[in-house]
Amino acid sequence: MPIEYDAVVVGSGPNGLAAAITLARAGCSVLVCEANATPGGGARSAELTLPGFLHDVCSAVHPLAVASPFFKTLPLERFGLTWIQPEVPLAHPLDDGSAACLHRDVDFTAEQLIGDSGAYRRVMKPLARNWEKLANEFLQPPLHLPRHPVALARFAIPAVCPATFLAKFLFKHEPARALFAGIAAHSFLPLEALVSSAFAFVLGLAGHSVGWPIPRGGSQRITNALANYLRELGGTIETNHRIDNLNDLPKSRAILLDVTVWEFLRMAGEQMPTRYRRRLESFRHAPGIFKIDYALSDPIPWKAEACRHAGTLHLGGSIDEIATTERDVARGKIPERPFVLVAQQSLFDETRAPGGQHTLWVYCHVPFNCAGDMTDRIESQVERFAPGFRDCILSRHKTRAADLEKSNPNLTGGDINGGAANLMQLIARPILSPTPYRTPMKGIYLCSSSTPPGGGVHGMCGYHAARVALHDCFSTRKP
Ligand SMILES: Cc1cc2nc3c(=O)[nH]c(=O)nc-3n(C[C@H](O)[C@H](O)[C@H](O)COP(=O)(O)OP(=O)(O)OC[C@H]3O[C@@H](n4cnc5c(N)ncnc54)[C@H](O)[C@@H]3O)c2cc1C
Repeated sequence: MPIEYDAVVVGSGPNGLAAAITLARAGCSVLVCEANATPGGGARSAELTLPGFLHDVCSAVHPLAVASPFFKTLPLERFGLTWIQPEVPLAHPLDDGSAACLHRDVDFTAEQLIGDSGAYRRVMKPLARNWEKLANEFLQPPLHLPRHPVALARFAIPAVCPATFLAKFLFKHEPARALFAGIAAHSFLPLEALVSSAFAFVLGLAGHSVGWPIPRGGSQRITNALANYLRELGGTIETNHRIDNLNDLPKSRAILLDVTVWEFLRMAGEQMPTRYRRRLESFRHAPGIFKIDYALSDPIPWKAEACRHAGTLHLGGSIDEIATTERDVARGKIPERPFVLVAQQSLFDETRAPGGQHTLWVYCHVPFNCAGDMTDRIESQVERFAPGFRDCILSRHKTRAADLEKSNPNLTGGDINGGAANLMQLIARPILSPTPYRTPMKGIYLCSSSTPPGGGVHGMCGYHAARVALHDCFSTRKP
């Protein structure tokens, strides 16, 4: 069979599109096959509730996209992408009616954390100063020769600690501890686990350095900008084109798979060398999520004023409460008071809802593949910090952990990040190698969030995988 494309990419999530763009920029002809009717995977938007209410189907808040060294090289603004920085990037309401907040400015954040101002400043300021260097280090495979070893070591030593231990060691008071714990909970790890602090540092520092922005018009705009740039470079995207077997693909020199290890096993398990297949089979899932998108008649009546100006909120109360919740979830127990992540995009972007009305994006952590309905528990958590919330609800759209896979084969059991991000799987993702994207099957590369640096909309897995493919299969072309 003659070669039809230099490269075929399976999946048009942020990593698939990043891989396709990297290859197309190097002069390759590229086809992207996407199972869904719309491209974008975890970066899509749709009217899920009522006409005129635009919801982010998956990702909503994008510190990692703005921080991405690869996305920075792309002309995404030319293709309509603009970022909105909410007045307060993150608020964490507490039961006394106050809220601990992450602001862009480290000093201002520290000043608000009364009793822990000095400690917060001492730990975050030197790291924030080195943000650019650090972001370049941790947004690539962990097995690499660091270009900034001193900055990296200063980050890595506290980052490897369990979040509960570090927060209680560093801070004396609940607001700073809870704020740190809430950000660490993005890891989906029990907060007593090693490296759970890394997530608090990466996302906290990103908040100080690049903010926690939202794209004007929804996360679909990130995809549209990437997809239109790819088309300008000559790439083709075919939607409604699910690949069940690698043999179904048109002939090409390289195949890049924006699919998780489990989807890869389904597609090609029988063709894999036994040792590699066993390694993928032993890869562990993270817990899942239960998501609700709301159409609201009014802004949420938060008790704490700061919450009314925040793009993102973490609802989980104290550090001990969040730690208990995340421990329960990891053990397969449905939490009574779940840790709830909230984004209120329409407060800052009037394109999301009809005049005066609002959208709300909410999800909570649940055990892997959980089929339970968390609506009451989520709404009780919101009511706890915003009495009267239920009166604002016009419509809701629920997605259970066990259902997420129906809209994206990568979201098996509700795991949104391509596998657990524990210490072992951060280092060996999915295999221990400086180039974990390369598979033992010639010309086939994994480029999804099951590879480093893992979950999030940043495109770095796709970019790194494409560079390896260019090196192996197209040695004369430069990315
Ligand atoms: C509810 C939710 C909220 C999130 N919130 C955030 C957030 O706020 N910020 C953030 O940075 N990240 C967030 N994430 C995580 C982020 O969306 C993912 O980590 C990111 O999208 C991973 O990108 P990817 O390209 O690896 O995979 P995906 O985005 O999952 O894309 C994979 C694509 O491949 C397609 N595909 C899979 N199998 C096949 C096949 N066999 N044939 C053809 N096509 C196939 C899928 O349909 C999909 O379009 C969230 C995720 C979810 C689900």
